[in-house]
Amino acid sequence: MQLSEVVQTLEQLAPLSLAESWDNVGLLVEPSAPRPVKTILLTNDLTEAVMDEAESLSCDLIISYHPPLFRPIKRLVQRDWKQRLAIRALEAGMAVFSPHTSWDSVRGGVNDWLVGGLGSGHVSVLSQTFRSPPHSHRLEFTVKSGEELNAAIEELKSCDGSTLQHSSNSAENKGIHVSFTCSESALPHLVQTLSGHTVPSQSLTVSKLEKHPLSGHGQGRASVLDQPVTVATAVEKMKAHLSLSHLRLALGTGQSLESLVQTVAVCAGSGASVLNGTKADLYVTGEMSHHEVLDAVASGTSVILSDHSNSERGFLFIFRERLAVRLPEAVSVLVSQADRDPLQQRPNCDHRPNCGLLRPDPPLRELTEAAERKEHVIKSSGLSRSPRR
Ligand SMILES: [Zn+2]
Repeated sequence: MQLSEVVQTLEQLAPLSLAESWDNVGLLVEPSAPRPVKTILLTNDLTEAVMDEAESLSCDLIISYHPPLFRPIKRLVQRDWKQRLAIRALEAGMAVFSPHTSWDSVRGGVNDWLVGGLGSGHVSVLSQTFRSPPHSHRLEFTVKSGEELNAAIEELKSCDGSTLQHSSNSAENKGIHVSFTCSESALPHLVQTLSGHTVPSQSLTVSKLEKHPLSGHGQGRASVLDQPVTVATAVEKMKAHLSLSHLRLALGTGQSLESLVQTVAVCAGSGASVLNGTKADLYVTGEMSHHEVLDAVASGTSVILSDHSNSERGFLFIFRERLAVRLPEAVSVLVSQADRDPLQQRPNCDHRPNCGLLRPDPPLRELTEAAERKEHVIKSSGLSRSPRR
């Protein structure tokens, strides 16, 4: 399947127009030599480990939820890890596509999947996506007769740069009311044309058309749960939904693990800007700052944090199914095995004394004793060192 056809399918599943204006979505890396797409790798983040995996799979397209290229770049050099990845993708002939906030916003996307972890409910969008109308302005005027209307339409047809739509109705003895919509770029020429010819200038009005909300699309979700659950159950449900052994919980003021959660507000990733001020029994997001958590808790809202990408990654498996059924069977759609949140829990381990990463943090007493022993060695050897901070 050609890359352009895959990209078209991706945009059908989540139109890029749903992404936030600050975002950098769509096809980010496009190799010069087109080749059929046979293997697609889905990842939350494009890291060096994921690129190793993509190369070992001879992948043709990487779909990285977070855009690996975000800020404008003036050079492609090896010292920047994201630029290195872009270079590796190009050299291996791999394309890179990023959907990011278009997946967050789309109905049935990341945030609907996230809120679904607490069970069914009445779900609404926290920050609505609006769409601009196809034409930005409306012009209205009145003509006295059908002949004048036809003359005006002929005049307007000569104005290029926009597709004109018109409707007209005739009220008794008040002439014919005509309404056109047009693009902003076509507006000056249209006004000039109408004013200079058949249309009395006093009857011409111009108004700007408002954006309209796109039902079900936008950032964050709120849900009034069909079956309220306790805070403790909410934690267990989210752990199962996100396939995590640990979550962090801040209990809202006056709440306990047995308090009931009826209303929940979620936002995948770093959700404070969307969740802030929302009345809910519980917030679920990837990360919030210390002070944002304090604000939520003080207003009686409990907070579950999963770490950033853990609140997003599970959607890759949902999307994999949606994409695979729309592509020929010969195209493999895989979810990365190497992709993971950079913050990991360190489980207790008693394998062996020097078990590196798996060794738990030593308790404070051990650290203090070790520091005292080190101090003793330094003193007894006669060395003096300035303290390091
Ligand atoms: Zn994110």
